[in-house]
Amino acid sequence: MSQSGAKKVARVLGPFWLAAVVALVSLLVITTWPRFGHGEGLPNTRGWGDPGQPGSTQGQQFLNTKIVLIRAGGVRVRVHRRAAANFRGFLNELASTPYAIHQRDTAGYNHRFNVNDPKRLSEHAWGTAVDVNWTANPNRIDCRLVTDFPHHIEAVAKRWGLRWGGNFGCPKDPMHFEIKGTPRAAARAARLASRTTRQ
Ligand SMILES: [Zn+2]
Repeated sequence: MSQSGAKKVARVLGPFWLAAVVALVSLLVITTWPRFGHGEGLPNTRGWGDPGQPGSTQGQQFLNTKIVLIRAGGVRVRVHRRAAANFRGFLNELASTPYAIHQRDTAGYNHRFNVNDPKRLSEHAWGTAVDVNWTANPNRIDCRLVTDFPHHIEAVAKRWGLRWGGNFGCPKDPMHFEIKGTPRAAARAARLASRTTRQ
């Protein structure tokens, strides 16, 4: 092909290539969207089941088969049964630091939408998140971290396979502790942590 012929081909194909690349990137962003900004994706993409919409039969079934009540750290919370060991260990360890966990502003499972992103179900809808002492550890959209947790709270949470909301860029949500990764990863973290903790 001559020099000018190649240039002609490039000129014709140019816009198509651009369109193709834009389409591909858009598709990639759309299909992997939950992973953006939330690290590991929503729980239903990680093997925790699907609670469906609030008020649905599927939601009731999810509650009946997946959610259990645990007693730990002086409080009672409902969580996903496959996350029970993580939250039990974490709450007990936090209470032993010592830190007083109050029943009146602590809760786990709640079939609702995300406070900061109302189009999306909250992690609490899966029972894979627990809010602890929300009065002293408020969700703040101004990105300011207000908390009364001990300074090593992040390390304690991490040991039990939990991510701390006080570490979220913005809004800050220090009351919030959620499971990272799959149920198997959570079980592994709980096993490891319980081996090195006396409770
Ligand atoms: Zn929360």
